[in-house]
Amino acid sequence: MAVPKKKVSTSRRNMRRSHDSLKASVYNECPNCGELKRPHHVCSECGHYDGREVTDVEAV
Ligand SMILES: [Zn+2]
Repeated sequence: MAVPKKKVSTSRRNMRRSHDSLKASVYNECPNCGELKRPHHVCSECGHYDGREVTDVEAV
């Protein structure tokens, strides 16, 4: 619900904003090709996951 700007104290406003910051996404090296990949995701470079190839890398 909208509340007038002046009715919200500096403290309340800042408490609300304490959760607004963006976190940098996490990356790890792929053990197969060494490229950076997201944890728990198939590597986008070589299509490997958990030590085996699970998908063809779409060659464009
Ligand atoms: Zn890889």
